[in-house]
Amino acid sequence: MKYIIATNNQKKLIELERILSPLGINAVTAKQEGISLDDVEENGETFKDNSYIKAYAACQKSGLPAIADDSGICVDALNGEPGIYSARFGEKNATDTDKNELILNKLAGIKDRGAHYTCAITCVFPNGDIIQVEDYCYGEIAQKPEGNGGFGYDPIFLYDGVSFGNFTSEEKDKVSHRGKALRAFKQELKKYLEDKHADQ
Ligand code: IMP
Repeated sequence: MKYIIATNNQKKLIELERILSPLGINAVTAKQEGISLDDVEENGETFKDNSYIKAYAACQKSGLPAIADDSGICVDALNGEPGIYSARFGEKNATDTDKNELILNKLAGIKDRGAHYTCAITCVFPNGDIIQVEDYCYGEIAQKPEGNGGFGYDPIFLYDGVSFGNFTSEEKDKVSHRGKALRAFKQELKKYLEDKHADQ
């Protein structure tokens, strides 16, 4: 069965493909289906809202079951900022390095360094059924960036005192918000497909 992945991010597609292929799912991008999601506005108030908005739009446009994720980092001392605005944090065209510096500057002199990543995944089916999961990864914001691994905020995120920038992708996958959410999603989807099969 073909599922559309509401992303143009090749890395996310590869990750999802690896996880979903044992369920007999063929993951394709919106682009591969000739669909543009450029006009979809991520104007939800939560990670779950935004992942639903993307998945719903992709399902409507393609007629296929669609999966979307939304993720970001929430910093306790910044009242959860940047949160759902993680990708759009700071000045327009800000690089990952700029965004990391902005967080470090905002936290200068602040003792509370607590932070967590969130990842929400939603699958919308053409019949209106929905599967939705969310998971988290708790840690702290470092005093300075460290390591070249990962992406985005990883060089300033400490998990058990170690920068995600120093994790291999396999190590990160085991404990990360996305790894955990994807595994939970796989379980939910497997159960949904089994129940559906039993109904037929
Ligand atoms: P989106 O989920 O593609 O909208 O992107 C969310 C943004 O959150 C990314 O651009 C990153 O800045 C940040 N982010 C989400 N997950 C991670 C992660 O695992 N490591 C580092 N940054 C992340």
